[in-house]
Amino acid sequence: MRRIMVAAVFLLAAPGTGLPAQTIAVRAGRLIDGTGADPATNVVILIENERIVAVGADLRIPRGAEVIDLSGMTVLPGFIDAHTHLTGIVLGEPGWQSALVRETAADLALRGAKHARETLFAGFTTVRNVGARSFADVALRDAINAGRVPGPRMQVSAHALGITGGHCDGTNGYVPDLFGGRVGIEQGIADGPDAIRAAVRYQVKYGADVIKICATGGVLSEGDSVGVQQYTDDELRAVIEAAQMVERRVAAHAHGNRGIKAAVRAGVNSIEHGSILDEEAIRLMVEYGTFLVPTLMAAEAVERLAHEGRLTGERADKALAIAPMMRRSFRSAVRGGVKIALGTDAGVMPHGANGHEFTLMVRLGGMTPMQAILAGTRNAADLLGWGGHVGTIQPGRYADLVAVDGDPLADITELEDVDFVMKGGVVVTP
Ligand SMILES: [Zn+2]
Repeated sequence: MRRIMVAAVFLLAAPGTGLPAQTIAVRAGRLIDGTGADPATNVVILIENERIVAVGADLRIPRGAEVIDLSGMTVLPGFIDAHTHLTGIVLGEPGWQSALVRETAADLALRGAKHARETLFAGFTTVRNVGARSFADVALRDAINAGRVPGPRMQVSAHALGITGGHCDGTNGYVPDLFGGRVGIEQGIADGPDAIRAAVRYQVKYGADVIKICATGGVLSEGDSVGVQQYTDDELRAVIEAAQMVERRVAAHAHGNRGIKAAVRAGVNSIEHGSILDEEAIRLMVEYGTFLVPTLMAAEAVERLAHEGRLTGERADKALAIAPMMRRSFRSAVRGGVKIALGTDAGVMPHGANGHEFTLMVRLGGMTPMQAILAGTRNAADLLGWGGHVGTIQPGRYADLVAVDGDPLADITELEDVDFVMKGGVVVTP
C-alpha cells in the first residue's frame, strides 16, 4: 500500500510529465480554512495543477473531476512547523552524543529522508529547518522539490551561526584539533561583524533560504549558561544587515531576556524558544512585530530525558531550570499579544509527533484551539514569507490539506493523529 502511494507521489509531483491538468474536487464536511474565519460546512475545494482554484459551498463540480469525499471530516490547511531539525540524529537515540564525529553528510541526508516522510505523514506539509550540518538540509529540500523523496516543503538555514564556544558550536568540549583545528564559517562559527557577514553569505551561497543564529546560550550545549547573550549588539546588527542584503529572514535562538531584547531591536524576524521574557521583552516583540516560536515540545522532551537520566550533568540541570520558565513566558506572550508561530524543535523529540505542539499551546498557553491552529498555519506561513503559497485554504495557495475525523475546535488532540494528508493536490496518506 505504502509503496503504491509513494509511486503516485513520484509520478504526479514530477513537473513536465505531460499529464493533462486533472481537476480534483475535495468535499469537506467542515472546513477550517486557516484565515481565522468560523468553520464552514459542506464546502467544495477545487484543485488544478497543485493549487487551489476555488473554495465554496455552492461550487459546481466539473464533469470528469476526481472527487475526494471528506464530507464526514474536518479539513484544515496543511500544518507548518517553523522549527525543525530534520537531518540530525534524534536526541536520546543511541549514539546521539557522538554523532558529530561519527556521522557523515550522507548519514544526515538519509536520516533526513526518513524524518521528512514522518513529518509529512503527520500533516506537516511545510517546515522551516533551522540548523543542519554539511548542507544536508539543502540536499533534502531539493530532493523533495524534485519528487525524489516524499517530504514537506522546506525552508532551510544550513548551519546555524554562533560564537566560538557558544550554543551553536557543536565542537564544545572536544579536542581542539577536531576539523583540523579550524572551526569557522563553514561550520557556522563566526565571531565579529566581518566574519558574521561572510558566514551569512557562505550559507546563502550554498543554498540557505533563511538565516538562523544563536543569540544566547542554550540547553543542549556544553560549557555555556542558557540565558546569557552570546552575540553582541554589533554582531546582531551585522547579521541582520547581511541577511537583508541577500533578502533572507533571520531566526534567533534566544532564551534569556537580554539577548532576546538585543535580537528584537536588531530586527530578527523570530525569537525561537523565548524562555525568559519580561514585560519589556514582550512589549518590544509586539512593537517590532517579532514572532515567538515557543517550542513547548522541546521543553517537555528535555525535561523528560533529564528525569529519566538520559540527559545528564549541566544539560539536565539547564533543562529542568528552563522548561518551567518557557511555559510561563509563553503564557505571558500569548496574553501580551505577541505573534506566535508553531515550532516544535523536532529532532529534540522524534519526528512525526509534531501535532502535539497544538495541544501544548492550548493546555499550557491558554490559547483557544483556533488560535493554536492559526499559529500552525497562517501565522507560520507569514513568518516564512510564504503567506501567498501555504497556510490557508484559499484560491492560489498550494493544495496542501489535512483532515481529521473529529472536531479539533472541541478537542485539539485530534491534530496529533491526522487521518488524511494532501500535498500539492497529491494524496500522500492512504
Ligand atoms: Zn532548534
